[in-house]
Amino acid sequence: MEMEFDIDLSQFWCRNEECPDYGKKDHGNIVLKQRYGKQNRALLKCRTCKECFSETKGTIFFGLDTPQDEVIRTLAMIPEKGSIRGVARATGHDKDTISRWLEIAATHCEEVTAYFLQNLNLKRVEVDEIWGFIKKNKKM
Ligand SMILES: [Zn+2]
Repeated sequence: MEMEFDIDLSQFWCRNEECPDYGKKDHGNIVLKQRYGKQNRALLKCRTCKECFSETKGTIFFGLDTPQDEVIRTLAMIPEKGSIRGVARATGHDKDTISRWLEIAATHCEEVTAYFLQNLNLKRVEVDEIWGFIKKNKKM
């Protein structure tokens, strides 16, 4: 089976902190092992330590079918819409799906907050409001 080589491997580095080549970009140690999932994501391998990791490792919403940016943007609409149901109506995403994203977001508090502030230019109060929803969602 031929594998399509359409990924720039020089953009990736070994995520294994124990590896001698950890964090070294464009070092030739990263190879494409296989593709997987609906989005045809790359599973990469470090030849130095033999560890495998996904191209999306280190991102927040690993393994979802929806792109991370869209997930975050959907969650960011919560203060404006006032409820998960409202966001579901506005975006067309299922409310159970959105609840699940909130659960995931809750486990990556710092990254998600940073993303809201830096990438979406939300204000602190808006981000706090989203976290209020996330906490409420967890109790349900
Ligand atoms: Zn390695």
